[in-house]
Amino acid sequence: MKNIAKSLELTMGRIRQAEQKYGRGPGSVKLLAVSKTRSADEICAARKCGQYDFGENYVQEAVDKILQINDSHLIWHFIGPVQSNKTRQIAGYFQWVHSVDRVKIARRLNDARPGHLPPLNICIQINISNENSKSGVRPADLPQLVADCRNLPRLRLRGLMALPEPSTDTGLQRKPFRQVKMLLDAVNSPLMLLDTLSMGTTQDMEAAIAEGATIVRIGTALFGART
Ligand SMILES: *Cc1c(COP(=O)(O)O)cnc(C)c1O
Repeated sequence: MKNIAKSLELTMGRIRQAEQKYGRGPGSVKLLAVSKTRSADEICAARKCGQYDFGENYVQEAVDKILQINDSHLIWHFIGPVQSNKTRQIAGYFQWVHSVDRVKIARRLNDARPGHLPPLNICIQINISNENSKSGVRPADLPQLVADCRNLPRLRLRGLMALPEPSTDTGLQRKPFRQVKMLLDAVNSPLMLLDTLSMGTTQDMEAAIAEGATIVRIGTALFGART
């Protein structure tokens, strides 16, 4: 197991430094630890260092770990593609879903959200700069999906999520993130404020923070390369 205390500290350092460099408020960017393929022990090691938000992509793997760890202080975020036959489990076990990209899925999550839990926080995933990916709503279809989600009482629409095509050039990395920020501003309204931009991974978190990310989703930098 990687030294998670050390890598958490280094990653928080990268985030705080980027906040400062790009004029973002101190503490305005939250670290979401992407724990897909990682063991319950690795998650617990991060939790001992004060990390409470974890992101998972695969429903069955996630539910197994959520039940095994059984810690009500942890906040679980679903960040993978949502299949309609998995919406009941996702709505029951997670507090956030970052990857809503069609109204059918939004309705199913809304209908399945248990009554004793608060509304499910969701982000709409945008397909930006990634023509090959099937995930994410096209920018032209975003306003309608936003309107549909705002009408679902068991969902709380928080903002947008994106996973652009990887690039190692910081200048190129910033462009799609800037487009996502502009899309958020275009659909935002002071009456129903969207406060979340979920964007940036290990290799492009600085570019995402420069363009307004409020949540960065980091796996590799914390836990090492996935096999
Ligand atoms: C795996 C994954 C991440 C984390 O990527 P790293 O490069 O390991 O930091 C972030 N977002 C999504 C949607 C992922 O599937």
